[in-house]
Amino acid sequence: MSPNKQHEEENRETAGAETGYDEISSPSAHVPSEVNELFAPENSGRHLTNLLTDLGERNLYDAAVQCNRCGYCETSCPTYMLTGRETISARGRNQFMRMLLEGKARDSAAAAESLSTCLLCGACTSACYAKVPTPDIVLEGRRTLDGYGDNFFARAAVKTLLDAPALFGFWLKLAYLVKMTGLPRLAAKMGLYDFIGMPGLADAEGAVNKVPLRFAAEILRRDPALRPGGKTAANWAYFAACGPNYLLTEVALATVRVLRRHAGEGIFIENQCCGLLAHNYGRLEDAREFARRNILRYEELKAVFGDFPLVADCASCAAFMKSYEQLFTGDEVWRPRAKAFAAAVRDILELIPAESLSHAEPARLEAAGRITYHDSCRAAHGQGIRKEPRAALRKLAGKRYTELPESDWCCGGAGAFAFTQPELSARVLDRKLRNIASVQANTVVVGSTSCLVQINAGLKAAYPSAKAVHYSVLLDSLTSEGAKLPADNAKINL
Ligand code: SF4
Ligand code: SF4
Repeated sequence: MSPNKQHEEENRETAGAETGYDEISSPSAHVPSEVNELFAPENSGRHLTNLLTDLGERNLYDAAVQCNRCGYCETSCPTYMLTGRETISARGRNQFMRMLLEGKARDSAAAAESLSTCLLCGACTSACYAKVPTPDIVLEGRRTLDGYGDNFFARAAVKTLLDAPALFGFWLKLAYLVKMTGLPRLAAKMGLYDFIGMPGLADAEGAVNKVPLRFAAEILRRDPALRPGGKTAANWAYFAACGPNYLLTEVALATVRVLRRHAGEGIFIENQCCGLLAHNYGRLEDAREFARRNILRYEELKAVFGDFPLVADCASCAAFMKSYEQLFTGDEVWRPRAKAFAAAVRDILELIPAESLSHAEPARLEAAGRITYHDSCRAAHGQGIRKEPRAALRKLAGKRYTELPESDWCCGGAGAFAFTQPELSARVLDRKLRNIASVQANTVVVGSTSCLVQINAGLKAAYPSAKAVHYSVLLDSLTSEGAKLPADNAKINL
């Protein structure tokens, strides 16, 4: 037996002892009836019809059994590495799904824990030879859990964002005004969030220092140069993801400036939310509706301007939009349209060629100090973007750029994970902060909203001589005529 084969066998034995995998039938087993029930037409609002995997289109069961329990992904999985628990590793999660579908899961509480503690980071898929889509499998598993997606506030937020975005903006500004009064801090101190069973909200409140009262979309739509009307050509269209639009306005404005400087004139698409929030928190039909509206808007503009890249500056949203096709695998009309839309999506991280940049002025680099790059999960694992931002940063910063150890280790933000699993999230973040401190970085470049908020909250408490800065903001500050790197977090609306 080869050493690799022996390693695989040993790994499988360990896994079997912990989770009862040995009861699992062979991969050629028939698809259990539960799978067919999940994918029945009446369940399409709650479950995807099929998953698009590297080995082709598969139903949930067939996707989960692609995992052969080899264990090569174990050391990539943050939740496994921090706890050493097989049941909260990628292999454990895939096997739980298989057992659930075969009706063999003995401990439903353990299955729920296994599924709800996954960061959906995708590090396991990157490490896996078969590219088993564990995050998609886990999400499908979560959608089977009782009460998943039934949170009143999340449901109301998604519905308002979908049907009345202006009202959503109004409520958000009202919430921001309340935040400025200090009342949420008072509520946290009084233990109100613990009382209503959502202790993570206290951390959410504390993670954001400053909020904008003018959203990016409101500013961009007033810029005549960004309006599609009267134009016949556009080199790009900017998609305002919810984070940069509603919270990190400076990121959105920096992205547009960088695009203008390096790619010529373009337009603002006046998009809706990409639908990721609805997708990840149990409102699949709402996610499809967000997607349809964005696809329609893109098609309208494509009829006028022809092909153009649709640029987003939050890696989570860009990765999700690149996967729109998976939302519509059972829909012959929308599937090809979703595929065409996805092909146009670009993350700002991959768009600016290093060749178009020159070494930044020493005075500006001085302000940034030692620069490093954190791979946002949905950029590195979700879109395969690693080389492009590094090449650009090396070109701009030269020797001031340094590689971050374990740069693609998740920061623990992971959407709402920091609020739903605060203890595990803090442990994941702690390792990221130690790595940042180990290279004595001053500026940590990131590509997604969640990473920016999470890493800055951690740095502020543990390593205040460094700050996280969005890639667009750093590029803008190092390449523009008059702009400077924000001197503190407040100036980038954190
Ligand atoms: S997810 Fe992939 S790498 Fe991980 S145990 Fe399964 S087959 Fe192996
Ligand atoms: S998505 Fe991340 S946390 Fe979830 S199983 Fe994979 S590596 Fe582990």
